[in-house]
Amino acid sequence: MRFTQPAYPTVYFSEKILVKCPDCGSVGHIDTELGKYTIPFPHNHKSIFNCSSCGLKKETNEKWYGYCQGFVGRNCGFCGSQINYTSEPTKRLYESVTIKCQSCNREKDYKLKWYRYKEEKPTDPYFGLDLWLHTDIKDKILWVYNIDHLTYLKDYIASKLREDDGRHKYSMITNLPQWIKSAKNRDLILKKLDRLEKKLEKTAYNNV
Ligand SMILES: [Zn+2]
Ligand SMILES: [Zn+2]
Repeated sequence: MRFTQPAYPTVYFSEKILVKCPDCGSVGHIDTELGKYTIPFPHNHKSIFNCSSCGLKKETNEKWYGYCQGFVGRNCGFCGSQINYTSEPTKRLYESVTIKCQSCNREKDYKLKWYRYKEEKPTDPYFGLDLWLHTDIKDKILWVYNIDHLTYLKDYIASKLREDDGRHKYSMITNLPQWIKSAKNRDLILKKLDRLEKKLEKTAYNNV
């Protein structure tokens, strides 16, 4: 079987995203109106989160529930050398971090600046909520936004012949990690995606 779908970027699938409601844990959905520019991250988009189980509703930029990454970029308080530090992505923010200067070896606490982290996590890019459709594969997590995204990924994984034509650096497939592309994980991934599809059928939102 040949994979013949266009080279969509992940953001193409992000207009409807199924997520876990942060208040009640049921499935909620995020509807997004994308702006003109979506790559590498969407700008001027309008997103609304809705949970029909508990009624929680959130709009764009009301609150970020997801991971953040902290940065320090300044000069050493002792010798003036440049200090650059990047934290692991986390949901628990802290004010400062102790850094040892590479030049003078002296330690000092430095304040972090936190930014929203939107890569490689099973969360949505608009509110940072946990995605509804994710599955463990060995020690990794495979996630999708919705049924179209799932079907697209499944078609790709199932295809024996994968062409590189027309792909660009932002295409979803170009950015898939190697363990997903690897033929030796094919059967396991397909089995897990089938299970996700069944999970989706069980929720009331299989048509969103
Ligand atoms: Zn809810
Ligand atoms: Zn120093």
